[in-house]
Amino acid sequence: MSVDVGDLSGRIDVAIPCGATLAGHVALPAMTVDWEQVERTRHRMTRKGAEMTVRVLDVPGDGGGKAIIVGDAERSSNPLVRIHSRCLYGDALQSDDCDCGPELSKSMDAIQREGAGVLFYLEQEGRGAGLEVKAMGLRLTQSLGITTFDAYHELGYPDDLRRFDHVAQSLLDDLELRSIRLLTNNPDKQSALAEHRIEVDRVPLRTVPRSVRSRKYLEEKRVHRGHALPPRWAWVCGIWAKRVGVAVTTLSVVGAWALDIRELVITSHLLMIATFILNHPANANARFRVRAMLRRLGMLRR
Ligand SMILES: [Zn+2]
Repeated sequence: MSVDVGDLSGRIDVAIPCGATLAGHVALPAMTVDWEQVERTRHRMTRKGAEMTVRVLDVPGDGGGKAIIVGDAERSSNPLVRIHSRCLYGDALQSDDCDCGPELSKSMDAIQREGAGVLFYLEQEGRGAGLEVKAMGLRLTQSLGITTFDAYHELGYPDDLRRFDHVAQSLLDDLELRSIRLLTNNPDKQSALAEHRIEVDRVPLRTVPRSVRSRKYLEEKRVHRGHALPPRWAWVCGIWAKRVGVAVTTLSVVGAWALDIRELVITSHLLMIATFILNHPANANARFRVRAMLRRLGMLRR
């Protein structure tokens, strides 16, 4: 389908033109968080069949947003943190052409599993350039066959305008966290926090590309921005490994029927049904619940 991007307010996102750099970090004025207000937002949320406690913390500043604090993350010594920039297409419209939606979902799965963590949701759409610029860039990539980074350059924008100083400040001053586990493949986020002397353990996020465009975009991020992602051949091998797995399961069913071995027939059928059910993208919730149940039974640690 094709989409048009408009702004009902009649204005467009203001972005820094090409030439502006994000080198170094900006020392923001210290702000005191109103914890009484944060506590007033404490409530229970059900997600994928399991409950968690969340609070909302404001992250002020240009390109700021909100932090969703799950559980009592600020009391953890090394909690999971996700810094996520808004992506209307990926997060809300579930576009298959980028990995934002699956990354957000996987991050929340990990935080929810632990019962504590922080999600920073930042108003930095289109790598900080805004939705209109992102849409114009996508148009260029599709019409000229260039990368999204080259498309940004064509439009007069640098690769990435996002900054994470306000996140570092929120972690240090509001949440008083000096050490975190950061859910990301993006080395820029890790180094931005490290500049503020926050100890960062990077936790990689593995998502399966859901379209050819998404696979291409992941490869661009790996090559142009140094994201810690598997190379293209690894995705292709993964897809073929899955296909071979399905083929072997199907052959075992057929073989069991041909040899008329009753136990094998039943076992292989159950195996085939389980494989298809658990691998279907629509059953992510089922996988989540199975893992939650195994953890409750002490059969799975995390
Ligand atoms: Zn996206």
